[in-house]
Amino acid sequence: MFEIVHVSGTARAGKLYTKHGKVETPCFMPVATKGSVKTLSSQEVADLGVQAIISNAFILFLRPGVEVIEKAGGIHEFMNWNRTIFTDSGGFQMLKKDFLLGVNRKGVVFRSPFDNTKHLFTPEMCMEIQSSLKSDVAMVLDDCPPFTKEFSYINESLIRTIEWAKRSITLRSNGQLVFGIIQGGTYPDLRRKAVEELVIMDFDGYGIGGLSLGEPKEVMLDILEYTCRLIPEEKPRYLMGVGSPLELLESISSGIDIFDSAFPTRNARHNTVYTWKGKYNITRGKFSEDFSPLEEGCSCFTCKNYSRAYIHHLMKVYETLGMRLITIHNLYFLQQLMKEARQAIIEDRFNDFKSEFQRYQ
Ligand SMILES: [Zn+2]
Repeated sequence: MFEIVHVSGTARAGKLYTKHGKVETPCFMPVATKGSVKTLSSQEVADLGVQAIISNAFILFLRPGVEVIEKAGGIHEFMNWNRTIFTDSGGFQMLKKDFLLGVNRKGVVFRSPFDNTKHLFTPEMCMEIQSSLKSDVAMVLDDCPPFTKEFSYINESLIRTIEWAKRSITLRSNGQLVFGIIQGGTYPDLRRKAVEELVIMDFDGYGIGGLSLGEPKEVMLDILEYTCRLIPEEKPRYLMGVGSPLELLESISSGIDIFDSAFPTRNARHNTVYTWKGKYNITRGKFSEDFSPLEEGCSCFTCKNYSRAYIHHLMKVYETLGMRLITIHNLYFLQQLMKEARQAIIEDRFNDFKSEFQRYQ
């Protein structure tokens, strides 16, 4: 199910096996919240070398509804994507105030962003929905509190998350991997408690949630390192919602295997281009007559076919093709970054690789 290929310091190269094949780690998953990686077709995403994507069970439950996806034969058939799909439970959506109406022991009361209807979303429903969607990896429902809350609030929230995890693991369906989610804010004691309780339940992997929500970066990295040390080595570790290139490498150093984030695609739609030498905004005046590619030496479809000047123009006049072209480049860049990081781990030179990358960021 998860195989560690090589460990270098605390960084790991591994292989996660799911119903839809193998995912080589470290791995970055583009986000397909509503069933698409924004602006791209599934074929285009596959062509970038993406091995796994993550969709959102709660959002798909609201629209188009589970029945439609079941009739299609599952989320893979519906999207025409035959590689690995993770589904997130929707717990993270609770942070968005316009969705969340309340949390109690039973579950979460949400307001639908589509039609304002009220829903009680329970851990059991969440597992049932993900089983019907037939995703490869299901995430249990968790309570993800804002990092600004005090110890007693985070502790209470964690007690709920642990209870929900217990109720969820018994509903594991055939062939689907189930990951628990470690919460506990920025409190080491609570993170330790979360890991100890969840490890007893023997999940197939562990998500680390509730980080990168605005807490200082050093705090985030400290908690991450601390938490990673507690998780059994043989289990895959998934840091949820972290996606800046440098943070990816720093987290790989701590022992993270899997990532997802909406940033590289969202930033692409807002003019930001990622490169090996840092990021830049394509709408800056100096690019208006720059006929070189987004990044010299990049082999992505965009860089092989289009210039900065053309993409600069498209973004200035709000043409969707511009968003697509930058999305393709940014995702390709991250796939390459993960591949090279993996190779560096295997060859025991990951720290040098990271330092070299860091110099330009
Ligand atoms: Zn490119």
